[in-house]
Amino acid sequence: MSRTRHSVCVYCGSRVGARPAYPEAARATGSMLAANGWRLVYGAGDVGLMGEVARAAQSAGGETFGVIPTHLLSLEVGKRDLSTFVVTETMHERKKVMFMNADAVVVLPGGGGSLDEFFEVLTWRQLGLHAKPIVLLNTQGYWDRLVALIDAIVDEGFADASLRGFVEVASTVEALEAVLRRGFATRG
Ligand code: AMP
Repeated sequence: MSRTRHSVCVYCGSRVGARPAYPEAARATGSMLAANGWRLVYGAGDVGLMGEVARAAQSAGGETFGVIPTHLLSLEVGKRDLSTFVVTETMHERKKVMFMNADAVVVLPGGGGSLDEFFEVLTWRQLGLHAKPIVLLNTQGYWDRLVALIDAIVDEGFADASLRGFVEVASTVEALEAVLRRGFATRG
């Protein structure tokens, strides 16, 4: 039987960001996933926070599953030494394969791509298409503005209050680990 019990999809920046706390949290996330025997599912790049998470997971002996579209192989430096390395034709296929192979979604600090991925899984949750935990790793309050936006969307009548409940927020990697453990215990 495989040591891997659960898979965690990590969306995060293809850049490291402006604060050392971002790559530090990314590395801690990769190590934490490996320590729990959870497989990392991510965009297969070796750049930015993506590379930080993956290298840390690998160094800690974790299983890694990466998915990258052909046209990003050089731009995002496709990381071919992952446990599983999948090349897709399109961005949509990439997102689909990542999501299908994950039991939970974690969003680290990132840019437009991370937001695109976050809102896709959030809106799928809103439509009842899945029940996977969605967790924002709120390193140094990076996602405070996103949480405030979601609150405003609800307050202004553009979404049901349940929208906010679909998003869990963890300020530290320790808190993230606890949220994931709870989510996996609840869902089996
Ligand atoms: P970013 O947060 O902008 O640094 O992007 C993080 C990751 O999201 C990168 O691997 C991007 O290639 C990816 N990305 C950006 N836009 C999309 C999209 N529409 N669908 C799938 N992945 C995307």
